[in-house]
Amino acid sequence: MIRKFISRLFTSNKPETNAQSRGQRRDLPRALHQIDASRIPANARNTVQTLQQAGYEAYIVGGAVRDLLLGHKPKDFDVATSATPEQVKPLFKRAFIIGRRFRIVHVMYGRDIIEVSTYRALHDAQAAESVSGNERTSRKALADKTLAVDSSGRVLRDNVWGTLDDDAERRDFTINALYYDPIRDVVVDYHQGMDDLKKRRLRMIGDPAARYREDPVRMLRIARFAAKLGFDIDPATLAPIATSADLLANVPAARLFDETIKLLQTGHAVTSLQQLRRLGLHHGLLPLLDPVLEKPEGERFITSALEDTDARIGQGKTASPSFLFACLLWHDVEQRWNALLAEGIAPLMALDQAADEVLSAQAERLAIQRRIATDMREIWSLQSRFERRTPRYANSLVEHPRFRAAYDFLSLRARSGQAEQELAQWWEAFQFADAQGRADMLAAAPQPSAATKAKRRRRRKKPAATDEAGSSSDASSTD
Ligand code: ATP
Ligand code: MG
Repeated sequence: MIRKFISRLFTSNKPETNAQSRGQRRDLPRALHQIDASRIPANARNTVQTLQQAGYEAYIVGGAVRDLLLGHKPKDFDVATSATPEQVKPLFKRAFIIGRRFRIVHVMYGRDIIEVSTYRALHDAQAAESVSGNERTSRKALADKTLAVDSSGRVLRDNVWGTLDDDAERRDFTINALYYDPIRDVVVDYHQGMDDLKKRRLRMIGDPAARYREDPVRMLRIARFAAKLGFDIDPATLAPIATSADLLANVPAARLFDETIKLLQTGHAVTSLQQLRRLGLHHGLLPLLDPVLEKPEGERFITSALEDTDARIGQGKTASPSFLFACLLWHDVEQRWNALLAEGIAPLMALDQAADEVLSAQAERLAIQRRIATDMREIWSLQSRFERRTPRYANSLVEHPRFRAAYDFLSLRARSGQAEQELAQWWEAFQFADAQGRADMLAAAPQPSAATKAKRRRRRKKPAATDEAGSSSDASSTD
């Protein structure tokens, strides 16, 4: 703790300041931005207005402005303001200060949340003061001195308040640093973001190599935005990635998990993974995936899983993280499952053990939350139960809370040749059949394949190893 504090005081790895990256403010009137003001939801507008009426600056910022300018529907609306979290909170009926690494305010309107963040500066207060005298001295007084970096230059906490131009400078891409004031109907642009939007180009603000050192996750964000928007990557932004990819190893597993989920849920997961590969970033991100992505049979399954996900999101549906990760890691689980079956371990127990091993190997790098891991395990575990088409098992299986996800998983396996088509079609019909229909289907159901029977025979030959498994397999309905 003390050592950390001292190294923070003396560290030479402060985030780099680049005078040229300050940017030149341009206020673009309506004629130059053409944002349709009627597309700004009342809650976002009200948040900006309330802050402005209280004497603070406030703008809609980031993804929402970018998406409005591109004619896309924004996912959510974020607001940037000159007010500190403590000044924001009392202005609204329901508002909560959240976060530690990055302290912000959630303003709640029913279930709708508007995220309000205070302008931030990337420099530590001292460096900022030396850049431009007096104006910054007032900012120094404002600064909550909690910018911290680790030994590789990665920013650990970022709660140093700043001015609007500081805030623009510390954002990642020029197209993500556009500010819209819905009251004045003006877009503020410091870094030629509007020009890059027109040229469909992703350009990092400041010195790209330094920006990757501060936050290596920005490299993953490039893959996400290039895929999602179909934009080109500016050559200077692209160049340092090849030599910076290793920096991702310093990023905490929980953050990598969040970013990977975002990337997979863009509705462009297939292209995002292709981008990751093109940028040489997929290695080490999901270590167990490395071999999978290189093997054709693993790839076919993952690609069809991600194509399905993209189609779902395109139709306005959601894709659960547990289903996505269950797909991504399935090839490993299956390989391990088969190896354990060959050792004579009962199917269900072998599958559970394979799941355990794969999940714990993954946990070192990518912290899959416990709740998600539990769901993944269930999706996998139910795969071994689909073969049992007897009245007792089948009827309770369809009642299982994870049945639908497990069934979707089975049909994916069938489509990529890993499970029999007939089995998936049978379950598709069975889940929607009435009681008589189900009874008829069960009476006519094919029994487990010869391969499954052989596995069971092998298991019976090894009672010592499978005693417990035998009982769990018998109880393998859906408890
Ligand atoms: P999306 O529509 O996919 O949410 P977004 O641009 O809103 O895209 P967020 O991850 O929600 O992306 O981030 C909001 C904004 O915060 C970004 O537009 C960008 O200005 C800034 N930002 C987010 N992450 C970083 C980062 N790692 N480094 C610098 N700026 C960032
Ligand atoms: Mg966003």
